[in-house]
Amino acid sequence: MRQYELVEKVKSYDPVADEEALNRAYVFAMKMHAAQKRESGDPYFSHPLEVAEILISYRMDCATIMAALLHDTVEDTAASYEDLKELFGQTVADLVRGMTKLSKLEITPEASKQAQNFQKLVLAISEDIRVLLIKLADRLHNMRSLHIRAEEKRLRIAKETLEIYVPLAERMGMQALKDELEDYCFFNLYPDAHKTIESRLRFLSETGKNDVQTVVEQLQKDLAEHDIPAQVKGREKRPYSIWHKMQKKNIPFEQVCDIIAFRIIVDNIEDCYKALGVIHTKYPMIGGRYKDYISTPKQNGYRSLHTGVIGPLNRRIEVQIRSKDMDKVAELGVAAHWEYKQGATKEGTQYRWLRDLLDLMNRCSDPNDFLEHTKIALYQDQVFCFSPKGDLITLPQGATAIDFAYAVHSRVGDTCVGVKINGKITPLRTELKNGDQVEVLTNKNQTPSPEWEHIAVTAKAKASIRRFIRAQQYEQNIQNARNMFLNETKYFGLSFNDKELQPLIQKYKSFLKAGQDQVDDLLAAIGAGVVSFKDVFHELHPECSKSTLKKALSLFKKKEQKPEETNKNMPVVGLIPGISLNFAKCCHPIPGDSIVGIITTGKGVTIHTVDCTHLNQYQEEPERWIPVEWNSAMLQNKILPARICLEVEDKPSVLSEITTITAKQNIAVTNLKIQNRKNGLSEIILEVEVKDSSSLDLLLQSFRSCQFVSNVHRLKF
Ligand code: MN
Repeated sequence: MRQYELVEKVKSYDPVADEEALNRAYVFAMKMHAAQKRESGDPYFSHPLEVAEILISYRMDCATIMAALLHDTVEDTAASYEDLKELFGQTVADLVRGMTKLSKLEITPEASKQAQNFQKLVLAISEDIRVLLIKLADRLHNMRSLHIRAEEKRLRIAKETLEIYVPLAERMGMQALKDELEDYCFFNLYPDAHKTIESRLRFLSETGKNDVQTVVEQLQKDLAEHDIPAQVKGREKRPYSIWHKMQKKNIPFEQVCDIIAFRIIVDNIEDCYKALGVIHTKYPMIGGRYKDYISTPKQNGYRSLHTGVIGPLNRRIEVQIRSKDMDKVAELGVAAHWEYKQGATKEGTQYRWLRDLLDLMNRCSDPNDFLEHTKIALYQDQVFCFSPKGDLITLPQGATAIDFAYAVHSRVGDTCVGVKINGKITPLRTELKNGDQVEVLTNKNQTPSPEWEHIAVTAKAKASIRRFIRAQQYEQNIQNARNMFLNETKYFGLSFNDKELQPLIQKYKSFLKAGQDQVDDLLAAIGAGVVSFKDVFHELHPECSKSTLKKALSLFKKKEQKPEETNKNMPVVGLIPGISLNFAKCCHPIPGDSIVGIITTGKGVTIHTVDCTHLNQYQEEPERWIPVEWNSAMLQNKILPARICLEVEDKPSVLSEITTITAKQNIAVTNLKIQNRKNGLSEIILEVEVKDSSSLDLLLQSFRSCQFVSNVHRLKF
């Protein structure tokens, strides 16, 4: 098709079409694809041109035709979305972008089980119904020229078409396009079956031609006698529908084909029922064949009367009766409605049909929720992502990578250490987008972090995380309590064994939850602070004074008292393996500092520097104190945060000078805050990451030697 022909055709049904823009789109697409060839050797531009021609046959609007011409330029040539937006406007650029997004989808054999979800994904991505129409036209042309493709690609495309695009065409009521797609799929996927059915059909039509003609003439005569203007057509059966029926109903070819089908097209609804009356009066009905899709249209908007009778020549015949308008809608579907918008003036009304159609397509939803103007917002509350194997996982909108991990399997969620989204390592909190491919990285030593509960959106992920945290807290509380007993008994030169608590369970039962009657349950209650440690300890060892000595400092004098068990992987030695460890946010201990561990409810052990003022509050609870030391072997490559307060001259270059100093010493600055600017001085709080106290000291010294620094000290509160 030549450029002027294309423009003329569009103008023939849309006189106000922008001729100049159409011409520009034609030339631009031709130039951009100039160097490319199709697999057949034809110039690539023949493809978008044919797609445009298919859409012209549907009398689509000018923007759709332009987008059809340009539909592969962003995907396959140097053109960008911005280029198109500048040259052809937002609407055309958006339509092309929709096509580009769709072209990135590829259905794998594993994923084909989830064809329905794929259809939803296609709808969710399309956003504008015209994108779907272009996509279907694109697919139709690809199917028409499928023979030029390599075998493997051919089968994949045919399968994808049959599973995704045929049902979409059906939902959109585009019968003619659907039929054509189906038969190409059948031809490519089952060539032998296709060949057999086609040759038998040819034989039937050659031998039965006279029959069909006689019946058509008789029916026409019957209707004319009752003054009903009508057009009667013998309907050809399609190979795919015959094959499909044979498969579905498990019946032989003859049984599918012994009924000839006819279509009667009249002027209006009234005549439909009149014609039906004529047929039913003259010919005996075949039971169970009558269907009224006029009073109850199909979901895709299809309207028609269907019946079966013993017709002329005593032949069993199938009859469809519909008006011209109904026939057009049945053949063209969504596209048939397009013309109605011509002449529509009021904003919003022109797309009412679309609203109705989408309402029909998706009855379960409120149309107001998913439609604004031309936008299809189907499934906007969902996001569709893929596993590396191609499995499609549907999540609610706003879901993050952590939800994906739990959707795969709770074990995958529990041990998840990171994710790759579309091949790139990405934070767990990343919100997923339609079509994202998500690979979950796991490590069997990983456990869920309480923070995850806030990142997760799905109930499943939240519940799994909570369940784990609760179980972990229970374990933690047991360990805390056991630690307190071990520490305290050690102090008095005694020993401790869990079993000693057994006789006390009954006494403290009222503090425990229903069904809890084990030693562990009592320990957990003590660890959580529900049951007083002091009371229980006194029960066990009445001989020890209830008001124990404050021994925080004495603990440090007994450094020779090394703990029996240490964990090589903890930055601190002296803790029972498995207990969770935190560094106090008040004093920010770093290796080299003298430190002490404090058992805190629900948090395991928190490490403070011995001079931290926060320790005062634990003076009365010596059982919480644990002697600890830095694990020098483990800390070789570990870095920890520290805070520094700098008092500096208020001048613009100060910040760069500070960062120059930290950079020279290879120390990372994680946060920087300027406060109290007055009298030409500012106070800067610097958060840095250092290896140990000596490298921090070195940094402090460098600052002290700077001219612009008037004071510097480490912050420990
Ligand atoms: Mn294409």
